[in-house]
Amino acid sequence: MTSHTKFEITFWGVRGSVPTPALHTRKYGGNTPCLEVRAGNRLLLIDAGTGICRFTERLTQAQEQGLDITILLSHTHWDHIQGLPFFKLAFNPANSIKIYGPKRAGFTLRSCLEAGMKPPNFPVPFDLLKGINQINEVAAGETIELDDLKICTAELNHPDGSIGFRIEYQGKSLAYCLDHEHDNQNEIHKGLSKLAQDADVLVFDAAYSDEDYPKFKGWGHSTWQVGYKTARKLNVKTLVLSGFNPDLGDDDLDKIALVTNGMEGNTIVAIEGESLTL
Ligand SMILES: [Zn+2]
Repeated sequence: MTSHTKFEITFWGVRGSVPTPALHTRKYGGNTPCLEVRAGNRLLLIDAGTGICRFTERLTQAQEQGLDITILLSHTHWDHIQGLPFFKLAFNPANSIKIYGPKRAGFTLRSCLEAGMKPPNFPVPFDLLKGINQINEVAAGETIELDDLKICTAELNHPDGSIGFRIEYQGKSLAYCLDHEHDNQNEIHKGLSKLAQDADVLVFDAAYSDEDYPKFKGWGHSTWQVGYKTARKLNVKTLVLSGFNPDLGDDDLDKIALVTNGMEGNTIVAIEGESLTL
């Protein structure tokens, strides 16, 4: 058993849909989703958007090998896997990377990951990612046990499907629910409630605001206001808003931070590079 009690998350990508390096995203960041999770001796990365390429920037060269990394993929939409072909740790056979991602009818997870790396669309085949030594398909509802970590999964509401995760470690819990669209303002999706009930931290899909949402209904994403109401109903300690639509600029996100600061409960607007301890 580990004596380490650290349970910390770091945001490496908080943007949905497309990487958005722009003047209007300098503060909150423009990379697509990746969340680093440190729990005891375990290192996990949730989603492999372009943010995964920033994860290595705090490692020395010596720290870049011999790593044991678990990657959890919510789904294989491009913005959640597009960092993988550029993730330098995955090319190093001295690392041991295990991927867990959704089991989907008609496709293997490997084939979904390989598809974007085939010529003539990309010159480097998936097989050269020698640091990846396991690809595990997970059916929504399954539980993954990694030493003293318990990872629960549930299907969320998203085109082509998306699974959410709840990581429990030493009595604390982290729920990760990107990408997800609320079905009904008054009813909480059952996958979401299973994962986020009484969670210490809920990372939620806040792509839009309620005001903008009608334009994007059916696109598979939610709003910060729905995230806020959900967090209150499910007794979440800290709500983290993430997965922002590329149009949402720093000024818009500053406004959301200001408004939620004045509201009951603890709400954080995720900033790329910042960490949070559970
Ligand atoms: Zn998606």
